[in-house]
Amino acid sequence: MRIAVIGTGYVGLSTGVCLAEIGHHVICIDTSEEKITLLRGGKSPIYEPGMEELLTKNMEAKRLQFTTSHREGLEKSEVIIVAVGTPQQDSGEADLTYLFQAIQDAAPYIEKGSIIVIKSTVPVGTNEKVKRLLEAFGQNKVSPFVVSNPEFLRQGSAVLDTLNPDRIVIGCENKEPAAVIEKMYAPLNAKVVKTDARSAEMIKYASNAFLATKISFINNIGNLCEAVGANVEDVSKGMGLDQRIGAAFLQSGIGYGGSCFPKDVSALLAAAKEYHVPFSMIEETMMINNRQKLLLVKKALNRFGDLKHKKIAVLGFAFKPETDDMREAPSITIIHSLLNEGASVIGYDPVATRNAKGIFGEKIAYATSVGEAIKESDAVFIVTEWKEIKQLVLSEVISQMKQPIVFDGRNSFSEEAVRDCEEIEYYPIGKPAII
Ligand code: NAD
Repeated sequence: MRIAVIGTGYVGLSTGVCLAEIGHHVICIDTSEEKITLLRGGKSPIYEPGMEELLTKNMEAKRLQFTTSHREGLEKSEVIIVAVGTPQQDSGEADLTYLFQAIQDAAPYIEKGSIIVIKSTVPVGTNEKVKRLLEAFGQNKVSPFVVSNPEFLRQGSAVLDTLNPDRIVIGCENKEPAAVIEKMYAPLNAKVVKTDARSAEMIKYASNAFLATKISFINNIGNLCEAVGANVEDVSKGMGLDQRIGAAFLQSGIGYGGSCFPKDVSALLAAAKEYHVPFSMIEETMMINNRQKLLLVKKALNRFGDLKHKKIAVLGFAFKPETDDMREAPSITIIHSLLNEGASVIGYDPVATRNAKGIFGEKIAYATSVGEAIKESDAVFIVTEWKEIKQLVLSEVISQMKQPIVFDGRNSFSEEAVRDCEEIEYYPIGKPAII
């Protein structure tokens, strides 16, 4: 099949590369000259494991191209997948400016009979708006077929998830275009849920809000565990083995972040308000998450009294391991709060430092290794559980610090590993500190 993908971000690029990998001819379009130049040179503008290998392999096989020209990209494309960003507005609703702009950019070049697939996460009813917009651009040649096909990949394993999805959701009232999209994905052998466009749009928001709520629930259980002297890791294990509950997303930590959960949860809440459907549970999910991001700073304030002139080493900027993405990362709230408390911050992340510099500028120092970050620090904050951070030997860490104090927001070390390290003061999440 000949496929065009509009937007080469985390979702668009993963989709384009993986559809080429399963044999389709794909052309990816982006308005960013910088991204397209990098991609044409076989370089991925984002960090995702396995991305560059598949990128170069499929470019060499002549199944994958990149362009900034909507005209060039849409010529002869049977399927046009839209994967541009839908960020959060101040009101909490999704901002559809990029989506409608992409449709407007594409409209003059869409060939008769092509199918427009909306992969971006969009509020219920948006696919219908896109259809009306295309009809308004008219010229009677533009296809009115619009299919909702939300994406569920996780950053950090985007390529793997795109090639092995738990399910593919296809939302369209018309059977023919839905069948074409099902055929496009057939080589993936995935379970397919076919439904109407509104339900497909809702599946995406309901899934993300449910996962965010599961995280906030276990975070609150963790806080209660600390108060009553229980251990949240054992509690999670005991709960997660129940198949009705499941172990995924049941680890207590310092809150969810990223480009999806925060904005999708708030967009769902905005929809509930618009339709006057009470959904205070979602508000609570958000409030718990906001509080949780500040937990390490609160623990440090309890320990030190105040943080003025304390040197804090922050390990990890990214919102989770295996990505350079810092959108809504807990590190942002934590570092700003540390600076407000008068601490000096030095941070380290294996891949997200470039993005961190864009956010914090010269307000903090940047280390190129864990060793450089922790040297002479008063405390270490573990914020992202990168493998290289989880593999640290705590006795070696504290030997380089001014004071042997570790606040671990991701429970990265076993109790045994901590107890092996005699002088340490170790403050985890949801279980007793080891002092
Ligand atoms: P992103 O910000 O990484 O990428 C969006 C890309 O679209 C950018 O490269 C931008 O230059 C490009 N773009 C904007 N307007 C354009 C236009 N008119 N023509 C061509 N290109 C244009 O976004 P993302 O993280 O890939 O997310 C895309 C959508 O997928 C969002 O709706 C998001 O909610 C959803 N989603 C994201 C994830 C994720 O993990 N990131 C997972 C599932 C769903």
